[in-house]
Amino acid sequence: MSDHADEFVLYDLRVEVVAGDREMVCDHQVGDYFEVSGESLSFPPGQTFPMYPLAALLPLLPAKQRETHPNDWMTTDSDIACPDPLCGGRFRITRVAERTFRHSEVTRVPLE
Ligand SMILES: [Zn+2]
Repeated sequence: MSDHADEFVLYDLRVEVVAGDREMVCDHQVGDYFEVSGESLSFPPGQTFPMYPLAALLPLLPAKQRETHPNDWMTTDSDIACPDPLCGGRFRITRVAERTFRHSEVTRVPLE
C-alpha cells in the first residue's frame, strides 16, 4: 500500500461545561472542560470531572468525531444535559480541529 493510502480524518473535540437554566448540583463548574483526540481524553492539570456526566457523554463522542450529514441531529445538536435530573449542568461538544490517522496505526485488522 502506498504511503498515506490508509489515512482517515477524525475531529478533535472539546467538551465544556456551560450554564443551564438552574443551579448545578454536581462538581462541575462553568468553563471546566476536557478534550478528545483519537481514543484519548485529556483534562487540564488539576481539574476533575465527575464520572456520571462523563458516562453520559462517552457514547456520543465517537459519533461527534466523525463527519455527519448536515441534516443529522448529531451534526446540529451540541449541548448535552447532565444526567442528574436536578442539575442544571450542560456540556457543549465542539469540533475544534481535524486530525489525520492511519488505519495501520490504530488497528491490526487489515484493509480489504
Ligand atoms: Zn450535573
